Amino acid sequence: MIEVEVKAKIHDRDEMVDRILSLGGVHVSEEEQHDLYFNAPHRDFARTDEALRIRRSGGRTFITYKGPKIDEESKTRKELETEVADPGTAAEILESLGFRMVREVVKERRIYSVGEFTVSIDTVMGLGTYLEIERDLPDGSDYAGALREIFELYRKLGIEDGFERRSYLELLELGEE
Ligand code: ATP
Ligand code: CA
Ligand code: CA
Repeated sequence: MIEVEVKAKIHDRDEMVDRILSLGGVHVSEEEQHDLYFNAPHRDFARTDEALRIRRSGGRTFITYKGPKIDEESKTRKELETEVADPGTAAEILESLGFRMVREVVKERRIYSVGEFTVSIDTVMGLGTYLEIERDLPDGSDYAGALREIFELYRKLGIEDGFERRSYLELLELGEE
């Protein structure tokens, strides 16, 4: 899977909800996500731009690998994600192999679908509010068109700058707000 994704800082959540709905957006769900990020014993994911995560959300747990970002303007990258039954055991498996927990990121995510895109409004604990627009494509697809459409959707939402390629993890480390 390729995750084609662009993130931007926003300032008025309610206004953004109105704009998403006025573009025909449909509310999908509202979840509190608890993410544990790990670093590897054999390489530093902060340097290689990879990620290993255990996410708890709505009573379910997912384990995720993300590869390095593959372009200069977005957060597009390889993503592998699958459900696991037990978050504690999943974390213990990783820790037994020498992976170390780096940080927990907690956020409230409101998810909308607009056409083929997923639009999320994220209120991240200790960080503020961000918008993410995303579409997942099969490996090897040409994602340039999808990326253009994401920026077009941003323009329709009145957002032309404030795009953010750094992760929530990096922003929290930097103490952004
Ligand atoms: P998703 O889009 O999958 O729901 P998210 O929106 O909650 O995730 P993002 O900020 O988009 O969070 O992605 C998680 C980020 O954390 C990745 O960009 C990854 O590169 C980064 N990351 C993971 N581990 C580290 C690390 N050890 N040091 C710095 N950054 C890391
Ligand atoms: Ca994201
Ligand atoms: Ca994503």
